[in-house]
Amino acid sequence: MQTADTLLDSIAPAQGQPGREILDPATGSVVGTAPEHTVADLEAAVQAAKAAQPAWAALGHEARSRALLAAADAVDAHAEELARILSREQGKPLNGPNARFEVGACSAWLRATAATVLEPETVAEADGSTAVLQYRPLGVVGAIGPWNWPMMIAVWQVAPALRMGNTVVVKPSEYTPLSVLALVRVLNSALPEGVLAAVSGGREVGAALSSHPRIAKVMFTGSTATGKAIIRSSADTVKRLTLELGGNDAGIVLPDVDPAAIAEGLFWGAFINTGQTCAALKRLYVHEDIYHAVCDALTEYAKNVPMGVGLEEENVLGPLQNKAQYEIVRDLVQSAKDSGARVLLGGDPDEAQPGYFYPTTLVADIDNANPLVAEEQFGPALPIIRYSTVDEAVEMANGVEVGLGASVWSADQAGAREVAARLEAGTVWINNHGAVNPMAPFGGAKQSGYGLEFGVEGLKALGQPQVIHG
Ligand code: NAD
Repeated sequence: MQTADTLLDSIAPAQGQPGREILDPATGSVVGTAPEHTVADLEAAVQAAKAAQPAWAALGHEARSRALLAAADAVDAHAEELARILSREQGKPLNGPNARFEVGACSAWLRATAATVLEPETVAEADGSTAVLQYRPLGVVGAIGPWNWPMMIAVWQVAPALRMGNTVVVKPSEYTPLSVLALVRVLNSALPEGVLAAVSGGREVGAALSSHPRIAKVMFTGSTATGKAIIRSSADTVKRLTLELGGNDAGIVLPDVDPAAIAEGLFWGAFINTGQTCAALKRLYVHEDIYHAVCDALTEYAKNVPMGVGLEEENVLGPLQNKAQYEIVRDLVQSAKDSGARVLLGGDPDEAQPGYFYPTTLVADIDNANPLVAEEQFGPALPIIRYSTVDEAVEMANGVEVGLGASVWSADQAGAREVAARLEAGTVWINNHGAVNPMAPFGGAKQSGYGLEFGVEGLKALGQPQVIHG
């Protein structure tokens, strides 16, 4: 078995090739060097993927599923090395719902995708003839990912694409290339040559991928602004797109809950991956009758959750992944403080400390129009807004242009479902926020994107529908 360092060596640029040092966001130390691939490298990768695709498609579903299961075994065999690379590069701790959890999700999703079956469907029958809907491979799929859950999201994109007989070129975020390159290296130890490649470059490589005439589909997860750029650059080739974009998820706490019983769930719904999660709770609406009790219970829970360097086993919260994100969170909390909002916890970063650590922050008595509420803060700072009627809470929850996830917290399942159905979000959780399941379709409403991932719907998104009448 390779160590994390030998895995990093195996993905480093060859002698004389350009590379970029990647720094640990917790300590500033060098994690490794990522190759700096260019648009010319992308061109070569796309040509190779195109050449490999017919044979991969010809293998058929069963053989491709077996290959995905072998890839899952390879991930499991390298789980600890992968988790250590992820922790050092992304900043997320090994423990808690973080690096080891993310690597575990990679093999779990590979296995679930291998086991998912998309059968041809007879959609009409008349006069002795039938119309059968089936799905052909699309060709070469481009997968462009973000830096918050870099390995897991790469697998969410790659696994269904491969399962459906496509070959794939992955473009990781320039902030977290080592994690994805290491993962692809491990996956490729089990996959046939040429079906999966990674090109590690910046925005220009992403832009070239999304306008490339030989890329049939782009799976994109990232910000709404980049999603819009990809829509534009993919237009000339009428590329298929699945867009998982930004969110600003609301949680609505109804007055019938026990605040102490939901505090842990609320906390992890908001602070998983130190708040750097697309479908995390980012605006908490609490009924006025229990507002203080919920604020107190959440503060009580949050103040004891350890944050620090990811490789230290006791930590379960880490730094922000990069300086730009640190500054966004710092400035948004400052704007809330300047407006007179009440800081219950945190809000006072120690700028002398190394690393992009921002303390766990809870902000109460904040106006719904404040930027900390209205914008996606993507960090460990949760605004808690008071409401008096459910109609008011629903209106505030729906009052943004994005709609990825949302949650309703209540002792009454039926009542909570009624509120859930009124929320403009692709997923709504009851008494939970953010738990995903490989069989339950996941995707955004409004400017959080379009298209679905996971399960049978996710496979359909990676195939070309074809109806045969006969
Ligand atoms: P980002 O949009 O800045 O970058 C994402 C990727 O797009 C990177 O690989 C980047 O190199 C590439 N890119 C940049 N410009 C491009 C262009 N013009 N054409 C093609 N590719 C280009 O996003 P980020 O900061 O890495 O990620 C954070 C964002 O992602 C947040 O908004 C978060 O909510 C969102 N996100 C959404 C989901 C989801 O499932 N909906 C999941 C995770 C993250």
